[in-house]
Amino acid sequence: MGLSLVVAATALLAMLAWGYRVTDRRIRSRPLEEAPAAESWLTADEALQAEKVDTPQGVIEATLVYGPKHQDPWRLAGLRRLQGYPTFPAKDGSHLVLLLDASGAKLYGLKVGIVEAILDPPPLEGETIVPYNPSEGRLVVVLPDLTQATEVAVETMSGESRGRWPLEKVAVVEPAKDFETKGANQVRLEQLLRSGEVVLAPAGALPVAEQTVDLTFIGAGYDTDQQFQSDSQRFSNELVKYEPFASRSYQLVFHRINNQIDLGCQYLPANPRLILCDEAKVWQAVNSAGAPADVVVVIVNNPNYGGSATSVVTAYNGQQGPAVFVHELGHVLGHLVDEYVIFGQGPLGGIQRNCSPQPGPVAAWEGLAGSDLPQGCLYQNWYRSTASSIMRELKAVYFNPVSQRILEGEINYYARPAITMVDLDHDGDMDFIDWRLMLNHFGTEYCLMSVAGGCLVDLNDWRLMWWFWGE
Ligand SMILES: [Zn+2]
Repeated sequence: MGLSLVVAATALLAMLAWGYRVTDRRIRSRPLEEAPAAESWLTADEALQAEKVDTPQGVIEATLVYGPKHQDPWRLAGLRRLQGYPTFPAKDGSHLVLLLDASGAKLYGLKVGIVEAILDPPPLEGETIVPYNPSEGRLVVVLPDLTQATEVAVETMSGESRGRWPLEKVAVVEPAKDFETKGANQVRLEQLLRSGEVVLAPAGALPVAEQTVDLTFIGAGYDTDQQFQSDSQRFSNELVKYEPFASRSYQLVFHRINNQIDLGCQYLPANPRLILCDEAKVWQAVNSAGAPADVVVVIVNNPNYGGSATSVVTAYNGQQGPAVFVHELGHVLGHLVDEYVIFGQGPLGGIQRNCSPQPGPVAAWEGLAGSDLPQGCLYQNWYRSTASSIMRELKAVYFNPVSQRILEGEINYYARPAITMVDLDHDGDMDFIDWRLMLNHFGTEYCLMSVAGGCLVDLNDWRLMWWFWGE
């Protein structure tokens, strides 16, 4: 008793000395009381210095073009060698972009997803909807610049070739660092630590890109940087009002590029609220600027309502622009379905992300939705999990719990899960038993994250054990 108390006290003091404040050992599940305070924007050099972004490496950017059915041979539309960051593989990809050596052996494979349908923002009152199907798609990928690589190739996940091209005529782009970065929200992390919740993140020296979701804003049609800077600030402030982005704001990193290049953005004559940009130009501009990006968001300097979800998020910068951005991000990051009705009768079958083709309770939505589901979710005869949400109408400033869980899964994919320690044995206290149960469940590869983002205490650390053992 005496000895364990001394050790526990020593451990406690050690933790206090490290800046970790233990205020309450009981777990409280508390909602976010206020939007987390904003971090300030850093220059690219400052962000690199502060390790908010990884050091760029030699990469090859390939621009690929595919037809409407993407079964025909693909076309290679350009190769550039630059300093940057390889594309993060798609979670549910349909194709592989490969680097091959002189003998045809695979050196590197990147799983990619391609855009099947272009989605536009929710209709304004009284508007009708005109779905738009593009005749071709463009995909820009960034691959590591491997010395033995002699060819780039595309194949389906089942191994059917879609094309193979020599790595020649590769344009060399001067390295640039023309972007600004707003780091992950450390204030939010401190709030969590202070609230008595313990945030756990993967241990080890992971690259920053693997601990964060990188959201990169680029301006289209701006005369002044000042207006774009104010808009990108407004957009990033909007996102952290929505769960799960609020709770995970300490893993969101925003970047912005003051762009003067024409990105080919235009309102479609047949559907004037659908803004489409040249996706290849957008991604190339992001790569030319040397900015990291998991998701690219084009902010269009135009007061007329509009936006789209393609391989990039696009939104106008008017009053509802920030909400359009969040809605379209739901499509691009979460692959969420529109919850407003676009089509008549849809096919019956299994759950389609946040829509259910079947009436009645959905087993997978237990605890997230009631049993009496409202009808109308993309199709007239499909069902949604809540009466409203931002995927249905922009005035709803929330994703419903079903969509939140889907988005949380995507954030976990890009940024690794953060585990909030919970009272696993339901005895009303977070203690040694919960810690032991958690260890059994997650293994020892997790650590308490420090406010600086590093590993503060390894989950397997004896000091943590003594702390939980307590009296
Ligand atoms: Zn939509």
